[in-house]
Amino acid sequence: MDSTSYIELSKEAYENNLQFLRSLIKEGTRISSVVKGNAYGHGIADFVPMAEEMGIDHFSVYSADEAEEVFKAIKKDSTELMIMGHIANEDLKWAISNDISFFVFEFDRVRAAAESAQILNKKARIHIELETGMNRTGFDEEEINRLIPVLKEYEDNLIIEGICTHYAGAESIANYLRVQDQKNNFNQLAQLLVDHGIEPKTRHTCCSAASIRLPEMHEDMVRIGILQYGFWPSREIFIEYLKGKKDKVEPLRRLITWKSSIMSVKHIEMGEFVGYGTTYLAQRDMKIATVPIGYSHGFSRSLSNTGRVLINGFRVPVIGMVNMNNLAVDVSEIDEIRKGDEVTLIGKSGDVEISVASFGELSDQLNYELLTRLPTKIPRIIKD
Ligand SMILES: *Cc1c(COP(=O)(O)O)cnc(C)c1O
Repeated sequence: MDSTSYIELSKEAYENNLQFLRSLIKEGTRISSVVKGNAYGHGIADFVPMAEEMGIDHFSVYSADEAEEVFKAIKKDSTELMIMGHIANEDLKWAISNDISFFVFEFDRVRAAAESAQILNKKARIHIELETGMNRTGFDEEEINRLIPVLKEYEDNLIIEGICTHYAGAESIANYLRVQDQKNNFNQLAQLLVDHGIEPKTRHTCCSAASIRLPEMHEDMVRIGILQYGFWPSREIFIEYLKGKKDKVEPLRRLITWKSSIMSVKHIEMGEFVGYGTTYLAQRDMKIATVPIGYSHGFSRSLSNTGRVLINGFRVPVIGMVNMNNLAVDVSEIDEIRKGDEVTLIGKSGDVEISVASFGELSDQLNYELLTRLPTKIPRIIKD
């Protein structure tokens, strides 16, 4: 069945972004592609094999249910998968038997992992998350001192795959001191483990913003989410990156384009209201088009009477309320227009563009939030 809209992913754009990332990140540092939130809305099932094809061999997700989706999408045996957040104790066996690594940040999970591994006669691959100042999850110094004997006790069933931490807001300069403290705490706590004979295979601390801001912390691996999709974690980071560059060009390209098509075109007389209620009164005779996209598809209701879409190279305004399943646009300016014409909700049409960022500003959502809210059910298509 035809869908009311499609999301296209540009392979070329992804290739461009990976090239940029590889030039940015220290030689020998592995890139883990962060694909939580349905690959930031890009769609795990389509995005993951494309990334693998371009040499990505490590993926990170937040939870075990996301890991299951990525696991199904992975095509190469050598590709590795890491869970950074939630996994229920009952699901540890699944992860361990499939060599999926996961963060540990409290004692119960460490013990449950070791015991599950023992039953399976395998080793659980764990990443020890260190509390460095985020104050959400992670072992602090006192806990690490208690953790060390536990790790030794279970050494036959645990592989210390990594030690890691996450910075609390590396995308904002206002957090500079807090992030510097975290960096120091990380180095100190990592040393404490080493001093007790615990040598993790990899160290990783950086997300996108920290990869730009803290090049000295690239270590063995960086966990890159938003940048690979062609977005900056914040405007500040973009400016920081450009500062001191000779040619101030945008090195990233967005992968995503979101398209629908016109469902019908009709003429309205001056003085008529359009759509539910009375929010839009036709000030002249006009031509309107309806598009089968509404807030149930992720097109925010707050874009009522303010949003824009692109049709045949024109930027046209949304008029009236955005409904659950459709919206109306004013197409009076476009002479040549008919049912079935392409409508671009995010992306380019001719010389005009609607970026996720501007769409986000209008609907008051962050890039991250808007992307991950794009419904899973919209079909994704890879464009070569
Ligand atoms: C989401 C996340 C990342 C990636 O963040 P970006 O800002 O998208 O690069 C890295 N590490 C952890 C622990 C995360 O939760």
